[in-house]
Formats: sequence, structure tokens, C-alpha cells
Amino acid sequence: MLTVFGTIALDTTRTPFHTVERTLGGTATFASISASNYVFTSIVGIVGHDFPASYLDLLKNRVDIRGLTISQTGKTFHYDSSFGYDLSKRTTNKTELNVISNYQSTIPDEYVDSEYVYLANNDPLQNMNVLKLFSKPKLIICDTMDFWIMNRRDEVIKMINNVDGIILNESEAKLLFKESNIFTCARLLGSIGPAFAVINKGENGSLLFYENEFYPLPAYPIEIIRDPTGAGDSFGGAFMGYLSQQEKLDSKSLKNAMMHGNIMGSFAIEDYGIEKLVSINADDIKNRYEKYKEIFSF
Ligand code: AMP
Repeated sequence: MLTVFGTIALDTTRTPFHTVERTLGGTATFASISASNYVFTSIVGIVGHDFPASYLDLLKNRVDIRGLTISQTGKTFHYDSSFGYDLSKRTTNKTELNVISNYQSTIPDEYVDSEYVYLANNDPLQNMNVLKLFSKPKLIICDTMDFWIMNRRDEVIKMINNVDGIILNESEAKLLFKESNIFTCARLLGSIGPAFAVINKGENGSLLFYENEFYPLPAYPIEIIRDPTGAGDSFGGAFMGYLSQQEKLDSKSLKNAMMHGNIMGSFAIEDYGIEKLVSINADDIKNRYEKYKEIFSF
């Protein structure tokens, strides 16, 4: 089983073309829905009394939500962000932590033996605390973002030291090390402890660093992008979901995991929030994978 820990949010997202308000989002939401295409996935997190029942049903239909706490006193984590015409640049307008600020995570007994744990972007301290609740995961991967790098850098570094792999986007990797070259960033991430590091570069693809080698991969080309929110988390969920089905962790399985990460990320950005992710099936993923491979064959 794969367990995903992260935020389950209400997102307000503004682009020059459209605004969606308080729609279902959050790092654990995107990552777990994406991963559920590959493996049985459970979710750990907290929402508030304002979380719509329809969103609960939607999650319940795809992932195991026994690890989801519903607070009767607080409000759901709310993230408000805007994109300009350059949809690769996001501006955070507001981060309202609400129920996640004092959340003491617990996991149901059934999750304790999870072999795979994905720490989606969240408070690094909470991420480290939740790790202690699992008996002995085979593979732990984490993600983080600017908010935590700026507010809890030391804890972010400690968290990276406690995982097998890290997935970060380009600007966050540069911010973490105050470094402008992404190859150097990838090497620095590896030097903290994890066996591999993946740096996402949006429409410019992604870079894997593993056993002292760099493996770049172009992104799957998407012409109509509606909402880039959740691309990184969808990448992470698929990456982890794919790896959980492989016997070995080596450069081949990691490169394939990157392809699946890029594929699910490419679906996520085609519509607002989770709309596209919940409308695709196994055939859509397989077809996109074949097409993606074709792009590299010449
Ligand atoms: P991304 O894949 O980077 O686009 O992640 C987008 C998701 O991250 C949104 O759905 C937000 O709800 C969530 N999010 C934004 N800020 C934070 C934060 N500081 N901690 C955890 N999750 C966040």
C-alpha cells in the first residue's frame, strides 16, 4: 500500500482566462488521485468543517480516506494563487493554514505497514513526525515548496536527510541552495542523503540525479494549459505509484517513473483543479505513454 501525507485544500486559482474559487486541491489530493491509477492508495491529512461532502465522496471513490481527520472546529487549508499569461509563474496571494497549523497526525492501524510513503508538500516537521508512525517503509519520497523553504529551511534539510528520494521544482531547488545551476542543485540534494533527486522544470521537463549521473527528460507537449496547479503533486503521485509496482529501484525504473510523472502532470494541467485527473482512465494513460515513447524514437 502507498500512503500519501499532505494537504487536502480548498484552492482559489486565478488565471487571465478564468478564476476557480475554493475548489478541491491540496498536495495530497493531487498526489493520491494520480497515484491511485497505479496502486492502492491511502491518504493522511486534515480538513475542516467547511469541507464539502461532495469532495469527500470524490476522494472516497478513489482513495482510502480512513486517515483523513475532519475537524469540527477549524476551517480547511486554503491556498489562493494567481498566474499571469506566463502560466509557468505562480504568485501566492494567501496561504491560510487553518486546521493544518496545529495538526497532530495519527494513522489508522491498517496503514502502519505501508511499504510506500509519499510525503507530499507539507510542514516538514509534520512530515518527519508522521514518518515515525510507520513500521518500516521500503521507499519514502518527499516534496516541498517555497513556503516551507523560506519558513523552515533547517527542518526541510532534516526531512530530505530522512527520505530515499526527493522531488522538487526548479525554482524551489534554486531557492533552497541559493544556486542557479540545476545540475548543481540536483547534486547538492543528493549530497544531503537521498538515493535520488528529481527536479521538475515545468514545460521544460525534468531532471533525475541518481548514482552520480544526470538523466534529463523533456515534458510531454501540451498546447492548451488551463491550470498548472497540482502538476508537481500529480507528477509525484504517479512517480511513486509507478515505482511501487516495480521490483527494483534502478535507473531504468526511475526513468520510467519520470515518464509516468510527466504524463500525469500533463493531464493535470489540461483543466482546472482535479477535473482532468478524475476524467481519465487506464487507456488514456497507456495511450499517452505510447505517444510519449514515440516522440523519443527516431
Ligand atoms: P503544485 O503541484 O506545486 O502546483 O501544488 C499545488 C497545491 O499545493 C495546491 O493545491 C495547494 O493547495 C497546495 N499548497 C500550496 N501551498 C502549500 C503549502 N505551503 N503547504 C502545503 N500545500 C500547499
